[in-house]
Amino acid sequence: MIMTIEELRAQCENCRKCALAETRTKVVIGRGDPHADLMFVGEAPGQTEDETGIPFVGAAGQLFDRYLIAAGIDREEVYVCNILKCRPPHNRDPLPEEQDACIGYLRSQVRIVDPKIIVCLGRISAMRMIDPAFRITRDHGKFYQKGKFLMCAHYHPSALLHDPSKKEEALADMLALAEKYRALRGGE
Ligand code: SF4
Repeated sequence: MIMTIEELRAQCENCRKCALAETRTKVVIGRGDPHADLMFVGEAPGQTEDETGIPFVGAAGQLFDRYLIAAGIDREEVYVCNILKCRPPHNRDPLPEEQDACIGYLRSQVRIVDPKIIVCLGRISAMRMIDPAFRITRDHGKFYQKGKFLMCAHYHPSALLHDPSKKEEALADMLALAEKYRALRGGE
């Protein structure tokens, strides 16, 4: 049983359960506080993440950080990761079999971090973690109680780079999330 993020990292670095092991540069596990109350889950590493081994550090990651700052959330106090730990070539969508192969690592990660709130970033993460029928344009920003976790989904920051018209809704979602997060932490 995986008990720590470092144990998880060691397992993933040796993992060859799907074909992405052949093309990855670095395995990308997560960044931030490994015992955060607020956890964000995207879909897969991109090029900069693959090169650095750190999630959400490219242009989309920098935009994501600006949303956190706008909502008064310190990026070091949250935990950020992806469903897949290795980059799909050319940033294509993760295949269902890749998600199936990798999802056990995410489950371990959720057990280690044990957050109060999980935020799916983007359609693929929301469909995998909240509801297969999830529609991001219709359902983003809504809160769902799933077992012990409060969950919601936001637009993926890379979608905001491609379609800036969604930025206003994305900021509103982040502000509402920050309010919920502070309330769950007892109004800190
Ligand atoms: S994406 Fe996940 S399952 Fe596939 S090789 Fe990487 S760590 Fe293993």
